[in-house]
Amino acid sequence: MIKEGDRVLLVSEEGDEFLVKLQKGLKYVTHIGTIMHDEIIGKPYGGSIETSRGIRLFLLQPGIVDDIYNMKRRTQIVYPKDIGFIILMLDVKEGDRVIDAGVGSGAMSYALARAVGVNGKVYAYERRQDFYSLAIKNFKNWGVEERIELKLRDISDGFDERNVDALFLDVPTPWEYLAQAWQALKGGGRLGIVVPTTNQVQEVLKVLYDLPFIRIEVWENLFRPYKPVPDRLRPVDRMVAHTAFMIFATKFC
Ligand code: SAH
Repeated sequence: MIKEGDRVLLVSEEGDEFLVKLQKGLKYVTHIGTIMHDEIIGKPYGGSIETSRGIRLFLLQPGIVDDIYNMKRRTQIVYPKDIGFIILMLDVKEGDRVIDAGVGSGAMSYALARAVGVNGKVYAYERRQDFYSLAIKNFKNWGVEERIELKLRDISDGFDERNVDALFLDVPTPWEYLAQAWQALKGGGRLGIVVPTTNQVQEVLKVLYDLPFIRIEVWENLFRPYKPVPDRLRPVDRMVAHTAFMIFATKFC
């Protein structure tokens, strides 16, 4: 049953989507009509309501991808299409201790927090106060604040942790921090890096080959969504052609 304070994703058959945090007495205005929060409270997930204009909205629990696309975002984020692959390539799992830097709006920290479970920990580093505060707000909203230890710090000073299972870097000059990353990782621990340009990939590779890392790989992930119409099944006209290059490596001692 849906309660006051819950975050609910409202979805129309036409594909309109709204993420609403419920508060008694409030009204939610959309381009397809108005809804009173009170009409949603007490209904089951999977049920529906109608807007003032008679348009049906289904009541769903937001998932991680909905949260990421709907969050307050002031930085570039790692996109879900890349996050899924990164989590698997880093072999992040229940109980792991992992590092994430920089945090930005927190999309990647959130996904890592989900993957490490209640017994794991994400040590997250962010050097800017404004992004740090935004990330704290986002983590609370998503209910993952207990799994993430967020530090307002520049990673050029290195990482506090040792023997971490995996370390993820999303900063403009990752090649400057690879020695520090090596120090924080356990033997066999996995490093993941995202960068938007090939020049950055080259800089990273040059340094990686000088450090004790093996299984050095560079990936790009192309995703093409389709229009889900049975009689005219075809890709959508435009696609996101580029998000980031992903670099992976494993520490040896
Ligand atoms: N991975 C994040 C986005 C990170 S954006 C997500 O998925 O949402 C890059 C962030 O790295 C920015 O917030 C920037 O302030 C931070 N950053 C850049 N250099 C840093 C450094 N040396 N130490 C700590 N944070 C840094």
